[in-house]
Amino acid sequence: MINCPNCDIKFSPSYATCPRCKSFETPARDREKYLKRNAADRISEGEDPEFVRDGLIQNGFSDAEADSIVRDATGDLRSDTRSGGLRRLAAGVAMLLFAGLIFLVVSSGNRIRGGVVVIVFFAMLGFGLLATFSGLYTLVTGRESKVAGRMADGLKRR
Ligand SMILES: [Zn+2]
Repeated sequence: MINCPNCDIKFSPSYATCPRCKSFETPARDREKYLKRNAADRISEGEDPEFVRDGLIQNGFSDAEADSIVRDATGDLRSDTRSGGLRRLAAGVAMLLFAGLIFLVVSSGNRIRGGVVVIVFFAMLGFGLLATFSGLYTLVTGRESKVAGRMADGLKRR
């Protein structure tokens, strides 16, 4: 928050000047810090980077500065998404291995077959395939695969 020495109120650095007296300007460094973080937040929320870039330039950033802020934000976003994809891929492979293990145990003739084992086997196989493919998709494209990603993430959070 910014403190206006004229009015003795605090205001958000989203204002370029104090919203009450309009004569106290937000210190350039605070305003800049706010605008950079705001741009990064909006990009991570899915706003068009081109639009965010235009907004930065309107707020006094040079073309080169706006480019680098947007590039950093989209880069961070992509590496976050990618590491999410990698975790999902690992979870998927683990589930497939577990399904394979169940299959081996059951097919080797141990008498533990039954409804629950079959359900667990198919659940592991199904979710394992889903997580593996959506994880791979995300890793390759840098994009979140919508349906599969949400299902696999929902499963993980439980
Ligand atoms: Zn003021």
